[in-house]
Amino acid sequence: MGGSFLLFSYLLSVFASLPSFTVVKADSDLTRPSLTPINRDLYHSSDDLIEQIKSLVHRHPEKLTVETIKAGNKGYTSEITVVTYCQSRKETDDKSKFRILLLIYDLRLVIAGVLDRLFIVFQSFGQHGRELITSELALRILSILSEEQFLPKMDRASLNGTLENVVIKVVPMENLNGRKLVEAGNLCERRNGRGVDLNRNWSVDWGKKEKDYDPYEENPGIAPFSEPETQIMRKLAISFDPHIWVNVHSGMEALFMPYDHKNRTPDGLPSQRMRLLLEELNNVHCHKRCMIGSGGGSVGYLAHGTATDYMHDVVRVPMSFTFEIYGDNTATLKDCFKMFNPVDHTTFKRVLNDWSAAFFTIFKLGPHQIDVHSKAAVSSMDKWVSIDEYFDGYLMGRRNRYGKKMEVLEVGMQEIRTYFRLFLLSSVLLLFMFCSRISKTGRQIVSAIPI
Ligand SMILES: [Zn+2]
Repeated sequence: MGGSFLLFSYLLSVFASLPSFTVVKADSDLTRPSLTPINRDLYHSSDDLIEQIKSLVHRHPEKLTVETIKAGNKGYTSEITVVTYCQSRKETDDKSKFRILLLIYDLRLVIAGVLDRLFIVFQSFGQHGRELITSELALRILSILSEEQFLPKMDRASLNGTLENVVIKVVPMENLNGRKLVEAGNLCERRNGRGVDLNRNWSVDWGKKEKDYDPYEENPGIAPFSEPETQIMRKLAISFDPHIWVNVHSGMEALFMPYDHKNRTPDGLPSQRMRLLLEELNNVHCHKRCMIGSGGGSVGYLAHGTATDYMHDVVRVPMSFTFEIYGDNTATLKDCFKMFNPVDHTTFKRVLNDWSAAFFTIFKLGPHQIDVHSKAAVSSMDKWVSIDEYFDGYLMGRRNRYGKKMEVLEVGMQEIRTYFRLFLLSSVLLLFMFCSRISKTGRQIVSAIPI
């Protein structure tokens, strides 16, 4: 009896344990095999990538400068590194010793800016944490600009000629805090360090939610520009006043132009020019695979409060784009590293080669595509940016040119001091000339007196 009871209870326990065993097994089948980890052989860590970029800049001070801008609110801080490529920097070396030369150079830049001789391209990478490949592309582009790496089929002379009047501003990793979360294992994270999507935090059509709105993906924040990252990017955009803006993402292969919040493109000639440039890029570099058109009309959903719509509508950048450089639609839903980034060496290399070549085509064709004088007219008359923002942007622009990490006000004071010193110097010179003239005249008068 006791034996049969034991057997019965044993069988019972086996049956009881079966369902839980089955469930555990089903769970592990669903999750474990489908998740691809970050390939550390191909991809830099965020710290390493920024470090590599900084040392690249230090090896090429004649062309490249770097600065890190910090901002924060409510206990949350963020920092954004910006690299500037400008061939004319050669002339500004030793600027601390030659303040007058710097002033002349600065004046020349202002004049060049007014005449719009300098063509400015502003690009941001890594706005979404999980799209690691985009920041690798930023490093590749900067390596080519510094001539440490080369594009196939491009000679140095033509490259330097192309870039003579082009200023290139690169933000290699806009969302450093979000990227850190991805590196810590949250491979699907696209938002910043406190859960806000940096490509929904801009003011154009901000906060509007579609029926399929998913806060995990698209949380726009508590207000437009609530996030330090977006605040920094807005100031940079206003101070650079670029001719071309490119927001680089991954998840699919596409070349988008405004609008993201409407399912159509803007009217008029500038819009046609944007489309022409995108068609050229699609034919030459995307092997005709890229989707072209408005972000809102092509992706299948409207996006509100995006950076590219702000650049187009508010900063009035003549060519504002969003590029999607890679996507694997065979990846399963949670397998985000594989969905957004190439996982094998061949594809990784192919994506970086194709897209860095696409960017150099932009640097080459861009200045020919844009009527720079119309941009100047638009810039001065039709901007919706407040005076306050302009002033902030202007001072930040100055800081960028000096390439020093100084507080905005400090730069302002430094300039006032420099101008004051120059004023004093010229006053003293004038006084000296005046005095020597008097003394000469005085001697003449004295010697002219007949005794
Ligand atoms: Zn993205």
